[in-house]
Amino acid sequence: MSNAIVPPAPVAVIGLGNMGVPMGACLIKAGYAVTGFDLLEEARRTFAATGGRVANDMASAVAAAEVVIMLLPNGRIVREAVTTMRAHLRPGTILIDMSSSDPIGTRSLGAELIAAGTAFIDAPVSGGVRRAANGTLAIMVGGEGPTIDRVQPLLSAMGKSIFRTGALASGHAMKALNNYVSAAGLIAAVEALQVGRKFGLDPALMADILNVSSGKNNTTELKLKQFIISETFDDGFPLRLMAKDVRTADDMAQALGIATPLADLCAGLWDAAARELAGNANHTEVIRYMERLAKR
Ligand code: NAD
Repeated sequence: MSNAIVPPAPVAVIGLGNMGVPMGACLIKAGYAVTGFDLLEEARRTFAATGGRVANDMASAVAAAEVVIMLLPNGRIVREAVTTMRAHLRPGTILIDMSSSDPIGTRSLGAELIAAGTAFIDAPVSGGVRRAANGTLAIMVGGEGPTIDRVQPLLSAMGKSIFRTGALASGHAMKALNNYVSAAGLIAAVEALQVGRKFGLDPALMADILNVSSGKNNTTELKLKQFIISETFDDGFPLRLMAKDVRTADDMAQALGIATPLADLCAGLWDAAARELAGNANHTEVIRYMERLAKR
């Protein structure tokens, strides 16, 4: 593709948290000239330690960028960041929201940007910190085909399975629905674990049996032994972000008039866990909230 954005093009990564740091590192490894920015100095230091260049303010982070990638907590913060950076973008820069944002907000932000001549696509990711670090994320991309074509080499540097989901915001819609399925499966696995343990079953044996039986899911395979039974709770995906994603999926259902009783329950449960547990709790620590429920 002739006008594709290839290394060593300048790229800005806004949001240097659990995901921004390893995804920025993949872009550096691919040969892009990456400048990172985060409001937190500690996050900027972490990125600098991986070999990334950092800017101390948004304006200098985006000034030279051909592509600005955002990995921010939610769509409201993405809108704030875009408002701050807009006056400092060079003409033709493409904005990519790789955060898990609310699709309705993405539609309205995108409409404003595109009307003003700024290209904008949504490209949220799945696979967590581990797959962010080795560049094998699943990426779901919504927006105009020619814009996606131009950034395809960057997406390929960060992800292995790249899906075009349709119009702008369709990636964000798919991501919220994916995380709802993941979050509901996690609760089912944790509930089964608690019941089985109290009945006298061995938790590790339960995980082994689930993983070769029909109850297998992402949690039984990749989280039960690794983070929950071991009580390490350190996979890098905060509980507050999972709660946000499930709420987003449930809000979509409400807006579309679809009855989703399980998603309603699930969103309430994750919200309550986020309120009760520490702000930096990992999402696998939801079991602590479930254990407290049992004692009430
Ligand atoms: P995080 O909280 O670790 O990082 C977000 C970073 O954004 C923080 O360092 C914060 O200081 C910074 N930030 C906030 N407002 C800012 C602003 N206005 N300007 C610049 N920086 C700002 O979150 P994360 O785990 O890296 O997740 C980022 C996004 O990716 C979220 O939307 C999340 O839902 C999604 N996601 C996370 C995972 C995961 O496993 N962690 C997996 C898939 C998707």
